[in-house]
Amino acid sequence: MEQEISITLRFNLAIGKVNLNEIVYKLKEIQNSLMLQILGGILRSYDDLISERLSRRYTSKARKGLGRHVRSDDPDSKFCRGRKVRKRGYRKSPRHFDTVFGKLKLPIRVVECLSCGAIYSPLLSALGVGAYKRKEANFENEVIEAVIDTNYRRLIKGRSIDISLGGVHNLVVSSDIDKVYQGVVPLEDLSGIMADETGVKQYKGRKGELRAVIGVTTAGRVEPLVSFSNTQWPEIERITKERIKGAEAFNIPFLYDGEPGLDDFLADVAESQRCTWHAPRGPYHALWEDGLKKKDSQSSIDKIKHLIGIELPEGDYELLKDEDKDQVKAQYKTSKAEIIELIKTLKDKGYQHGASYLENLSGRLFTHIEIWLKTGVIAPKTTSLLERVFRELGLRLKKIAYGWSDKTVTNLSKMILLKQYSRKKWEEYWKEKLGIKGYFNVYIRSVELSPCINF
Ligand SMILES: [Zn+2]
Repeated sequence: MEQEISITLRFNLAIGKVNLNEIVYKLKEIQNSLMLQILGGILRSYDDLISERLSRRYTSKARKGLGRHVRSDDPDSKFCRGRKVRKRGYRKSPRHFDTVFGKLKLPIRVVECLSCGAIYSPLLSALGVGAYKRKEANFENEVIEAVIDTNYRRLIKGRSIDISLGGVHNLVVSSDIDKVYQGVVPLEDLSGIMADETGVKQYKGRKGELRAVIGVTTAGRVEPLVSFSNTQWPEIERITKERIKGAEAFNIPFLYDGEPGLDDFLADVAESQRCTWHAPRGPYHALWEDGLKKKDSQSSIDKIKHLIGIELPEGDYELLKDEDKDQVKAQYKTSKAEIIELIKTLKDKGYQHGASYLENLSGRLFTHIEIWLKTGVIAPKTTSLLERVFRELGLRLKKIAYGWSDKTVTNLSKMILLKQYSRKKWEEYWKEKLGIKGYFNVYIRSVELSPCINF
């Protein structure tokens, strides 16, 4: 079905005075209301076409997908099979829609089913909006993108969007973003997994714990795995395991920053590795508990830093000479032995806290080296990528999530991660949600100016 829209615009222009900015400024001003009027026109025409189809003689094929309604007075709310209708004018009040262009008020036709007598509006089911749904999904998309990009205030000011903070909350809490977080991420595409937590202010200023797990792909990119507000680690571990499957276990490190709840996280899938940046900085506190001042513990700490700072040769593992690999292996063995030596020294000197800190650490310091020796994959060894992710999350959540429930913060954090780090999945999510399948096309055929009315 093809149809044309004619638009008549009238402008007046002060010759020699108006500049480019003013012209663009004024055009921009009418942009949204022009689109609203076009949208209203298209929808009214669509409504007419549908009721025409249903009220006149058409083949059932031509009516396919139209006129679905619940049978009148049916206690089981079953759908009626009748498709022939009588037009019954318009609803008493127009229907309001929130769209990206602004609010649309639309008169809507009602029809009466000739089989069951039900009175209904066939346009609504054709448009895919329920009896009460008022917001179209482009609008949701725009709101959520804006919330993630900037913040709520800028959203209201900069764009012609009319939505309250409570409205944003409702959009986020009812979102089905979880769907995207159910797909399996093949383990063989990852070179490491990281997890950590950070505080966020939530409902009534109550502190929430935002916990996130990310994968690092072999190309070094972030792959969001899970993200939750106030959900305990064992539950997060269970969900993470559902998402990472395939491949041989234990060939990737699980990196963390010493959070005690994470000591055995994913222990049957990955080898744990303490962040090599943070790990050597931890003994300060343990040794301080043993009565050592910073200047006295410095030499032990420098030693740990030195021992774990094994550099892996660059370049393709397969192309490396055996002696390069042997050099790493030798260094690795020496370092491990010296760490054990250091633990013994600390114990001998009676530094119990320092010794047990290092003992706990010792099995998790060289995982990335062991993996490289075994597989040639250069795995991440610090949590710096995850720290960046948390900064991104914190920045955006801080501005809007104050006063929000766990579910809402969880959903928003999932959205932020996806938008920032899995752009493609984010776009697919919205395209599916919007139901864009190529059933509507519109293009500008011509824009012509008529001659001056009064020169
Ligand atoms: Zn009926």
